Amino acid sequence: MKKTRHAVQLAFLALTLGAVYLVGANAERWCPFGGVEALYTYAREGNMICSLGTSNFYILGGVVLMTLLARRAFCSYLCPIGAISEWLRGLARRLGVPELRVSGAADRVLGLLKYGVLGVILYFTWRAGELLFRGFDPCYALISRHGADISFWAYVVAGTIAVASLFVTLPFCRWFCPFAAVLHPFSAVGLGRIRRDEAACTACRACAKACPMAIPVDRLVQVTVPRCTSCMNCVDACPSADRGALWWGPAAPRSWKWSQAALIAILLFCATGAVAASYVFPMPSFVKTRGTPPEQPATVELRMSNVHCRGRANYLFYFLNRDDELRLPGYLKVEAWPGPGTADVRITYDPAKTDEEAIKQAITELYYNDFHKRLEHSPFQIEGYDPLGLGRPGLDLDGDPDAGLDFLGGDLPPMPAPPQGKPSEAQRPGMGPGE
Ligand code: SF4
Ligand code: SF4
Repeated sequence: MKKTRHAVQLAFLALTLGAVYLVGANAERWCPFGGVEALYTYAREGNMICSLGTSNFYILGGVVLMTLLARRAFCSYLCPIGAISEWLRGLARRLGVPELRVSGAADRVLGLLKYGVLGVILYFTWRAGELLFRGFDPCYALISRHGADISFWAYVVAGTIAVASLFVTLPFCRWFCPFAAVLHPFSAVGLGRIRRDEAACTACRACAKACPMAIPVDRLVQVTVPRCTSCMNCVDACPSADRGALWWGPAAPRSWKWSQAALIAILLFCATGAVAASYVFPMPSFVKTRGTPPEQPATVELRMSNVHCRGRANYLFYFLNRDDELRLPGYLKVEAWPGPGTADVRITYDPAKTDEEAIKQAITELYYNDFHKRLEHSPFQIEGYDPLGLGRPGLDLDGDPDAGLDFLGGDLPPMPAPPQGKPSEAQRPGMGPGE
């Protein structure tokens, strides 16, 4: 059983690392905790924070469903931190490093820390509308290939967890993991559970000794505590499991033999179902509107480059909201799916006041960047739209594709028209987006 579980852990870790390091996938968009961090901002503004996508919500839903069915099985089968931490303790055990066992009241008190960690993270993240703790997250350091905002402290945290894992079983998962705190209310009412038949049990205590979460399995008829990860180490260790002393699943049949296969099927169903649902029912990660919708609005769907995060999508809206000759009159609604490479953007407008061509012009025409005091090309390219045949209209005049992005992260300030005496180029349409 343990070998099968380790194989699942290894396969999932390999899948994640392969997707990140070989395919260049943005694994952050599949982090269920990202869904928790983004909930408040999405509910309030309709926007995901930073480069998270609504796929984070789908995968969060999938993990919640698997927790309702199989408790914290996500932690023991799929989480990379849990897997690496468990393997490190296994290695230390083989090398003869003694275990520092923490159970009883000390374990329960330490277990409360994760709620504090969760509270601090959510308070500051929701207040700022940014992933403020991302730079400290060892998991993000791994899946982002040392992303731009990773700090030295992420490696300090990773090293601390790794060293602690050599002496203590799953210290982070038991005491500090904020996602475990999120899962606990769902795990508390989880259907799948370890069951013990007192008549067949010999009271040898092997199950309790094998439990990484320090649960006194030998004294319970059903394990309903939320911290159970359904790892089945207890069943593995039970010498009377074949006689029906201990098993995972419903009250009958009392067999452990099929239970792990059923549990893995549940995990696969929930994970693949969440991924499939995110593709079948895609929700925009960014929504911003201006004005009152007309009775008969029109919509244009565009594929665009350089819309890879919420800040960029905000910047796109800023272009559409420009106040020069290219200003788009009437209602505007921008729905975007920001991401690396080419992003999908849907723009809804009033066809009685503007049209598709005007929208494309507003997005791609020159503008006057008051911050840099210069004319710049738009950083955005629309797939298949290159009216002047420039080839790469998305580049800044100085070759800086990030030009003008110093405004990102908040409401963009109005950009005034250029001062008198600018070169004649500055008199062209498109020199000053803003309110
Ligand atoms: S009670 Fe059994 S299944 Fe639950 S965490 Fe402990 S060993 Fe794993
Ligand atoms: S390991 Fe099995 S037999 Fe021993 S106490 Fe636990 S349930 Fe009973």
